[in-house]
Amino acid sequence: MGARQCLFCPKSSDSKEHLWSDWILQSLKHREPVRQMIGDAPNKPFTGPVTVRCVCGGCNQGWMSALEGKVRPLVGSFLHDISHTLDAEQQEAISLWATKTAMVLDATNTRIRTRFYERHECERLRLQSSIPMRSRIWLGRFCGSGLFAAGTDISLDIGKAQKAAHGCVITFIVGCLAIQVLTVHFPPQYDGIEIPVGLSPGPWDDLLVGIWPTSNRISWPPGLAFTMGKPFPFISLRDRWKTGSKAV
Ligand SMILES: [Zn+2]
Repeated sequence: MGARQCLFCPKSSDSKEHLWSDWILQSLKHREPVRQMIGDAPNKPFTGPVTVRCVCGGCNQGWMSALEGKVRPLVGSFLHDISHTLDAEQQEAISLWATKTAMVLDATNTRIRTRFYERHECERLRLQSSIPMRSRIWLGRFCGSGLFAAGTDISLDIGKAQKAAHGCVITFIVGCLAIQVLTVHFPPQYDGIEIPVGLSPGPWDDLLVGIWPTSNRISWPPGLAFTMGKPFPFISLRDRWKTGSKAV
């Protein structure tokens, strides 16, 4: 088998890179094992730093590292649960970082599923700081501390056309910050047409703040927080698109 190509550029991904940056790992005092679920793969606990082989050293130490540097003070304050506001520029910076993380997570388990993000979407993130079309990103507050990542593939019906569109939901928790990135690929005949995607009922507006597409100014934290168990288990965040995923 030849060397794999970097997710984001034409070079080969010959090095092992850490999934979570050192500054994130260091800022989490009570580290719990990283749990990762992609698609229907079993819940796999990791105990050490997670390494990935899908990006090249140049990307990792170049633009990806720059992205990390830009969000570090912002995400750092989330990690310590400080209340503040986020302007559109800050929302965009976190969104780019979240998308980069989602794309890497999407590529970590391709043995049993096909990678969702397409090459041009990853390259455009690197070259143009462009987030894929039909993406939405939310932040929530998690009452706890740890690292968790999960990916869910969803299929959507459009009218009578069953499974006409496919989406990927990447949900991750870094410290007490919950992040969800949803991207949906609709067939080309729907280009330019706004299609809302259905989700399971829940007090999502009180639990989450949308940062992509950006809005003027949002305040943090949201009114409600996710918990390990009831009333608002963070698992429900992961699964909220799973049931009744319908493009209406
Ligand atoms: Zn690269």
